[in-house]
Amino acid sequence: MVAPADNRNPDEPGSGAPPEPVDARLYVPDPKGWTARVKQGWEKLYCFYKQPGQDYFHQLMSGEIYLERGEEVVCLMCALRRRLITTDRLNWQHRDRSRTGGETDA
Ligand SMILES: [Zn+2]
Repeated sequence: MVAPADNRNPDEPGSGAPPEPVDARLYVPDPKGWTARVKQGWEKLYCFYKQPGQDYFHQLMSGEIYLERGEEVVCLMCALRRRLITTDRLNWQHRDRSRTGGETDA
């Protein structure tokens, strides 16, 4: 069972700011070594990973946001699929909770 997303953060002041219609923020649970980059120009650059069912590496578009770690280039779709990034704003809390073994809501 997937726990519902909790948008309330006690660290944020509830100062009446209107809720964002779409939360498109992304988080890297293990950010060490990763850099977020924007593809500049049309020089050929390929994602490090293949899509399931495809036997070729797909090319990144100009302006596409991707992750980079050393020679590893990962588009956001593959990064999400491989769980290098997450939309879970409180992923560190969930991860810490699972590590301590106190609760199992994952
Ligand atoms: Zn990819």
